[in-house]
Order: sequence, then C-alpha cells, then structure tokens
Amino acid sequence: MHEDQDSLINKAATIYERLLDLFGFPEWRDPLPAIDELVSTILSQNTNDRNRDVAFHALRARFPTWEEIRDANPEDVVKEIRTAGLANQKGPRIQQVLKQITEECGNLNLDFLKSYSADDAQAWLTRFNGVGPKTASIVLQFALGIPAFPVDTHIYRVSGRLGLRPEKMTADQAHPHLAGCFQPESYGPAHLNLIRLGREICLARKPKCDLCPLTDLCDYYQAQS
Ligand code: SF4
Repeated sequence: MHEDQDSLINKAATIYERLLDLFGFPEWRDPLPAIDELVSTILSQNTNDRNRDVAFHALRARFPTWEEIRDANPEDVVKEIRTAGLANQKGPRIQQVLKQITEECGNLNLDFLKSYSADDAQAWLTRFNGVGPKTASIVLQFALGIPAFPVDTHIYRVSGRLGLRPEKMTADQAHPHLAGCFQPESYGPAHLNLIRLGREICLARKPKCDLCPLTDLCDYYQAQS
C-alpha cells in the first residue's frame, strides 16, 4: 500500500504513542563515549547484545585504552572478541577505524561531530569500512545526541509489516526514510520500543498479533484478516 508522507508521519506518531502506552518510556543503557559506542556497535553486528557485551568487556579488560587496542597485535584483539563472532573481520576493522580516526583527528575523541549537521556526521562516520548507516546512527543518536534513526533487523521487519516503508526498500534506504516518518525527538524511544515489539510480539516467524496494539494500522495484519 502506498501512503503519502503526511499519512506516514501521522501513522508513525500513532505507533509511537501506542508503543509508549504498551512498553513505557524505554531507557538506553548508560551512554558510552562515542568511540566506545562505535566499537561496541561494530562488535554487535550479526550477534546478540550479550555476546557483544562479553566481547567488549574482555577487550577492555585486556587493553585499558583505545590507543592500546589500536596498536595491539591483531591476533590478540581477535582473541579477546571471539564471543562476538566474525572476530577475524571485526578485529581488523576495529583497529583500522581507530587508526584512521587517529590519523584524521589526532586523537580518538569524536565529540567534534556534535558541531556537524546530522547528515554530515552520518556521512563522516560511514566512510569507514565496517561502519554502515545502522552503526553510525547508533553512535550519533545514543552517544552524541545527534538525531539519527538506526534500523536493525527487527525495525526493518516490523516497519515493513506495518507499511511504514515500501516493501522493497533496503535496510540502508530505510534509515533516511524512517527518519522522515518519526519526529527527531522521538527517534531514541521509537527505535527501542520498535525493537522490543519485534523481539516480544512481532516475531519473525509467527507474529503474536493478538497481543499487538497496532493491528488496525498494520498492512500485514489487514491482509491476513
Ligand atoms: S499486527 Fe501483527 S504483524 Fe502487525 S505489527 Fe503487530 S504483531 Fe506485527
């Protein structure tokens, strides 16, 4: 179903309100410095939060500073992050990003991005290998307070079912599209509550529509009934 932009904005606002009623106002875990969030999010690719956190804490326990991680023997970094999976890819990526940021900025502090527009900050971060729109958006939204709408696998699925985005749109394209549907001040809680909806109710294989407060707004549900 095609809906014009005003309809999508209204629909997103209703979804946002109903999910607040259902789940309450979600809290992001303690915000991390931007470099920590960047590395943590690279570690989270293709794994769950628990494995990401185990790998992150192992890495930080072995190397107390990011400079040490940047300059470490690659095999030692890979060894510490094995729990997160794809360690042979993620380790070199993390070290390369840390090296490139140091070369360009002279240090490992990303706070300068706060003076950039959201689009410029996103473009700056996504130049690095292994940093796609989702990773960059998480760093911007949750570590730097720059509005960005991260789209993970749950949000991609749920937004497709709800008809918040065209069916064939890619996940990368869904980032700017969904950012245009939700209000910037709602990005953080909307992101977290949509993920929770996807994890607990709008399951990939068999959505529990009988528990969902969005049936009247949902293209998938309407098509089934
Ligand atoms: S009505 Fe069903 S398919 Fe639609 S969002 Fe809710 S759980 Fe998912």
